[in-house]
Amino acid sequence: MPHWFSKAGLVSFVIFSLACFVMASEASAQGRKIYISVDMEGISGVVGDDQTSAGGAEYNRSRKLMAEDANAAIRGAFEGGATEVVVNDSHGSQRNLLPEDLDPRARLISHSFKRHGMVEGLDDTFDAVIFVGYHAKADSPRGLFAHTGSGVVKDVVVNGRSAGEGGLNTLMAHWFGVPVVMITGDDVAVEQQKEWTPAIRGVVVKRAINMRAVESRPLAEARRDIQSTAKEAVAAARKPARERLASYKVRMQLRNFTIPEVATAFREIQIVAPDTVEFTRESMPEAYRIVRVLYRFINPD
Ligand SMILES: [Zn+2]
Repeated sequence: MPHWFSKAGLVSFVIFSLACFVMASEASAQGRKIYISVDMEGISGVVGDDQTSAGGAEYNRSRKLMAEDANAAIRGAFEGGATEVVVNDSHGSQRNLLPEDLDPRARLISHSFKRHGMVEGLDDTFDAVIFVGYHAKADSPRGLFAHTGSGVVKDVVVNGRSAGEGGLNTLMAHWFGVPVVMITGDDVAVEQQKEWTPAIRGVVVKRAINMRAVESRPLAEARRDIQSTAKEAVAAARKPARERLASYKVRMQLRNFTIPEVATAFREIQIVAPDTVEFTRESMPEAYRIVRVLYRFINPD
């Protein structure tokens, strides 16, 4: 074989390999599967507690507002390269979003009887997670509707670190190796999330004056911002390695003494103070399921 032929052969092999590489990276940039967890308290235009529970006079307005912010994120995700979007209704009954109000390209997970609540259905097949409508954690000095899980929780501490809903859901996403790339909510929710994911893109749709009063951005402007930020966030998303810690030690402080007492029915849950339980699990999903049972499925009334 002449010398010139092998050189040409090598050149065409290099060009062919480069073409394959470009095609493969375009395919992965375009074929993204995105998970969107939608809560209600941090939605644009949601400002009062008559909006956030099913019996409230203003509830039917706020579930439409919730769909509008979700749809802005869904549109942006598809513009940023998503080919599949799964929305998880993450507020209260988790039956707030009406399928007919939602962008027809998205699938919807509904109902609160879920082991993994706000991150039900999330697994390692997703390329990125977006939090929409999130709020500050329990006992934040400021932050609209600040709470964690439900009203019975004073604090949840995982491996020594206090976590609100955003923090707990981030630990789950990282367990599966999926990056949390964007959050929307009031300014406090966005700031608290940055402590977990400093590179996250945040859209502040309202400014909390305290736990109840709020200054809202114009709705159309907030939704435009959600859409363009989701587009950028999804286009830039890169999957990190799974982050699996050796163990997950959870300390949970409640606002009553009944839940800790009932919780001793579970293996290896200890009462460390009359209002506080502690337990350790090997995986974050296991720890998360117990946290959810404690704040959601034990009713002391
Ligand atoms: Zn919530």
